[in-house]
Amino acid sequence: MENSGKILKRVFGYDEFRPLQKEIIENILKKNDVLVIMPTGGGKSLCYQLPALIFQGLTIVISPLISLMKDQVEQLRELGVDAVFLNSSLAHEEYQRNITRIKSGKVKLLYIAPEGLLRPNMLDFFSSMRVDCLAIDEAHCISEWGHDFRPEYRALSEVRKRLPDAACAALTATATTQVRTDIRNTLELGSAGEFLGSFNRPNLFIRIVPKVNPVNQLLQLVRNYPDQSGIIYCFTRKKVDELYDVLGKEGFSVKPYHAGLPDSDRKQNQELFIRDDVRIIVATIAFGMGINKPDVRFVIHYDLPKNIEGYYQEIGRAGRDGLRSDCTMMFSYADIHKVKYIISQKEEREQRIARIHLSSILQFVESDMCRRKPLLDYFGEKYAGNNCEMCDNCMDDKKDSVDITIPAQKFLSCVKRTGEIFGAGHIIDVLRGSKSKKILKFGHQKVSTYGIGNDLSKKQWFQLSRQFIQKGLMLQDMEFGGLKLTPGAYEVFRGNETIFGVFEETDEPPEVRKKATDLDYDEELFNRLRKKRKELADKSSMPPYIVFSDKSLVEMSAFLPMNHSSMKRIHGVGEVKLEKYGGHFLDIICRYCEENDIDEKQPDIKKKSPEIT
Ligand code: ADP
Ligand code: ZN
Repeated sequence: MENSGKILKRVFGYDEFRPLQKEIIENILKKNDVLVIMPTGGGKSLCYQLPALIFQGLTIVISPLISLMKDQVEQLRELGVDAVFLNSSLAHEEYQRNITRIKSGKVKLLYIAPEGLLRPNMLDFFSSMRVDCLAIDEAHCISEWGHDFRPEYRALSEVRKRLPDAACAALTATATTQVRTDIRNTLELGSAGEFLGSFNRPNLFIRIVPKVNPVNQLLQLVRNYPDQSGIIYCFTRKKVDELYDVLGKEGFSVKPYHAGLPDSDRKQNQELFIRDDVRIIVATIAFGMGINKPDVRFVIHYDLPKNIEGYYQEIGRAGRDGLRSDCTMMFSYADIHKVKYIISQKEEREQRIARIHLSSILQFVESDMCRRKPLLDYFGEKYAGNNCEMCDNCMDDKKDSVDITIPAQKFLSCVKRTGEIFGAGHIIDVLRGSKSKKILKFGHQKVSTYGIGNDLSKKQWFQLSRQFIQKGLMLQDMEFGGLKLTPGAYEVFRGNETIFGVFEETDEPPEVRKKATDLDYDEELFNRLRKKRKELADKSSMPPYIVFSDKSLVEMSAFLPMNHSSMKRIHGVGEVKLEKYGGHFLDIICRYCEENDIDEKQPDIKKKSPEIT
């Protein structure tokens, strides 16, 4: 029998397994139950798809969303694997045709929603067949503690009992212990092996920039990614519509997505994005679940995310293909007031939780450590490295060049003298000698710090005050916004500590690397291949990434394969895709090389683009 390593290359076109995949596959093949926890893009699907090709019988995959099923089945069919789905989107005849094919024993993988499996007679039907594996994708849907609980998932324990010979593989990207325990208990997984992958996504560049002039900043940022796909998240529907308008007027290929749009619009916009007919989606967090697009090159948070877990999920939609992708959050303290207002409208219990979430995301934002540390910490994982080389804190030159001790002393003592209950705006008014009613009412024109800060503008003072908070010299009251001093502030008063910072935060966009990989590839050729891919995909009404991933095209335009055998070495080129598409792409490569008088790169000097997962 062909071993799993061979099938990996022949069918899927991959050279090696990613971490844990091999062990998981071996366990499933031995009919051991497994619980797999890996981040988005970690390669969970392969863990049950590959054994399905080796098993004699059927593999049933439980999936919560029609869009996910469709996507996976399309991908498998392109690889030459016999896969079908059964759901309400199918016409009666097609449904029956799929049932007949399942009965005939040809089908290797069946995708179905839990409610479909629980329909009358369905379980009888399947328990009369040979089912070797029951894979439960998005298994966190079982848990009320998870973010998308699906009551139907609870009934899967019944299904399991009816299919005693099937190995059960539960897979999820949700790592919390509560959810894990819930999955184990509900599915009665007992001694099932647990495979917990690292939640680090090394190919995501994480950056937080001060939100100074947001619309301009956004436009500049987005211009860094001509022709590439990206998602912009914002807090409200209104903001989505607004930014959609701005971006559209600037000529960007963009569509909006939020819960206020009619169902059909949302569906259509999502489809346009997936098919590369539209490059950018501006969305609320309603967008993303069920999106399998692997080549999202940037995610921008225009507003503060609700909590760390949400933030992680949202940036996780970038770079599933393992190529470098950028995640940029625009942050301003003013946004916190908006969030606080929203929190204050909630019920008391919810308020408490929302406040905890807010403070942990703030901690993340203000930290000057490697971004991966607090992020992975949240998932109970220690980030071992010191410098990830893929976040702002590890990479950006420290801009803290100016001595700001004196303004710090002025500001902090003004906070002290006014009783540590006022916000930055009032403190700045005192420092700049304003004659506002509020100042007179509190008699603050008489404090010794009144008018000693005229040398700096209001804007500069605001920027400084943010830095004092970031540097841990002051705390901001979560409820009322009042500033309080920390013990560190007293060290500054006493002259024991020198503070460095910047007077002027810039809205210059950060330098962005144009290329998504270190591999030296020909961009002109890449674009031609991409055009061909789009053309082929459109012909069969599929998303382009199902034909070939960006990574495959990048390798083609780096190694310039000119015949079948060198084409076969390219990432993602398995037997069936080679047969089906190889010729189209070889033609383009050969013609290009002839035009430009270049040769194929020798296979033995072929350095693989590093798998970073
Ligand atoms: P998940 O379900 O964990 O989010 P997927 O199964 O969708 O992740 O896989 C993410 C991407 O990684 C897909 O594009 C997939 O083809 C690719 N992939 C999976 N396993 C491998 C491998 N061993 N080598 C190279 N690419 C892989
Ligand atoms: Zn880092």
